[in-house]
Amino acid sequence: MTFKELGLNESILKALQDQGYESPTPIQAQSIPVLLKGKDLLGVAQTGTGKTAAFSIPILQQLLDGEGPRKKRQIRALVVTPTRELAIQIDENFTAYAKYTNIKNTVIYGGVKQTKQVYALHQGVDVLVATPGRLLDLISQKYISLADIEYFVLDEADQMLDMGFIHDIKKLLKLLPKQRQSLFFSATMPAAIVDLSRQILGDFERVTIQPKQTTAEKVEQAIYHVNKKNKTKLLTHLLETQMKDATLVFSRTKHGANKIVKDLDKAGIKSAAIHGNKSQAARQRALGDFKEGKLQALVATDIAARGIDIDELAFVINYDLPNVSESYVHRIGRTGRAGASGLAVSFCMLEERPFLKDIEKLIQTKIPVIDDHPFEFKMEDAAEPSLKKQGGRSNRKPRPASGNSKNNRNKSRNRSRNTNS
Ligand code: AMP
Repeated sequence: MTFKELGLNESILKALQDQGYESPTPIQAQSIPVLLKGKDLLGVAQTGTGKTAAFSIPILQQLLDGEGPRKKRQIRALVVTPTRELAIQIDENFTAYAKYTNIKNTVIYGGVKQTKQVYALHQGVDVLVATPGRLLDLISQKYISLADIEYFVLDEADQMLDMGFIHDIKKLLKLLPKQRQSLFFSATMPAAIVDLSRQILGDFERVTIQPKQTTAEKVEQAIYHVNKKNKTKLLTHLLETQMKDATLVFSRTKHGANKIVKDLDKAGIKSAAIHGNKSQAARQRALGDFKEGKLQALVATDIAARGIDIDELAFVINYDLPNVSESYVHRIGRTGRAGASGLAVSFCMLEERPFLKDIEKLIQTKIPVIDDHPFEFKMEDAAEPSLKKQGGRSNRKPRPASGNSKNNRNKSRNRSRNTNS
């Protein structure tokens, strides 16, 4: 399926080409034909599926197909979304897709002065993207009329409900013309949302898009805060206790990889290193031995690991945290393949905590911390040398390591659930 096959206007097709979109995403392929027929739509989908284009493209197309922008512009399409960030994003999408048309759009949200927003409205807009509070506020000040709305989108309905916007939405519904096309999007469909959708939608079609599980969601992850000198002890401990199957260990440097293999050898754990300084033959042999189960661990650097393709890899251990967050996702993606779940644990020294922060930002998840292990990092271990450097105020009580207590761990687990939802 191509955008052209959806029968879209040339000016929209050109704009989509500029965006680099080659073909419609599933939600677009399913929703656009329904919407172009004028039907209402219930979309069960979340951000990241291409949902915004799924509703903005057919709205633009219909605005163009209809009488086109009028001399005196009235707001003919209204998109209501819960947060300022989403509102800005949606407005940017409209701007991008409408760039070769003379359709005008603008965005309004709370928390900032209304002057600029009122000015933009005064210039005349066809499409308005808004958060509920500021929208009602400007309606009550008579800067906005909803009398000409032909297309109404309620975006992220479940989040609206969570954020307590339900009364605002009900107020809005009373102000909308009865004759309109309505689009209702929600990531989840609890009873209250089904009820709300019934109040908004007329004759509708439902499109459901299940989000793909990302690597970061598929693989169980954990962080061990540990001192540099205890990393090898912790590695040996894990390989001897919980991670007895094929384990891929990541080291930041080639030298580090060799040292890990030596240390594991001393502990009686069979392993081999693969990195750029090893010959192709040595790498192949190590990989072969690992696949055949002759080695428990394969110790690799990021670059050397790229060529490794092993389906049944139970565990990944990041002996060092990568300073490039994307490498973390590639590394942990080595386990949990072919639908199997995997476990990836990472050792984190005090100096590596900024890397951890970046990684968590990228994967939008707080990785749970394991603190009940024999080599648990204690802040006073780190405080000693630095205090000495500062002049030996070693009597000062070290601050406890935040994020290491059970309470904090539970909190972070809950947070990670929230950010994933
Ligand atoms: P959304 O779910 O609307 O937040 O979109 C997620 C991301 O996918 C945005 O960065 C869009 O620019 C992008 N996107 C939307 N539709 C397509 C498409 N057909 N092809 C490629 N990227 C797309």
